[in-house]
Amino acid sequence: MTALTLHDVAVSRSPLGIECEHCMRHVLLTRAIVHARAGDTRTLEEVGLHCGKCGSRNFNVVRLEKPSRRTAFMRNL
Ligand SMILES: [Zn+2]
Repeated sequence: MTALTLHDVAVSRSPLGIECEHCMRHVLLTRAIVHARAGDTRTLEEVGLHCGKCGSRNFNVVRLEKPSRRTAFMRNL
């Protein structure tokens, strides 16, 4: 589980990847998906983020600083 907050998502300079621990689905996390705003200290768990495929709320957050990492992450579905 992660304690990443909406604030973290809003101010992050690099895209964040979400990896479902249950079905291993990879999703790119964007501010729009979670309506992230700076100063919002709720965690992703608290706002009910869950896997769109299996519904699991257990996931890992991966920081994707480089475009090459982002591509590799999304290719490894
Ligand atoms: Zn899943």
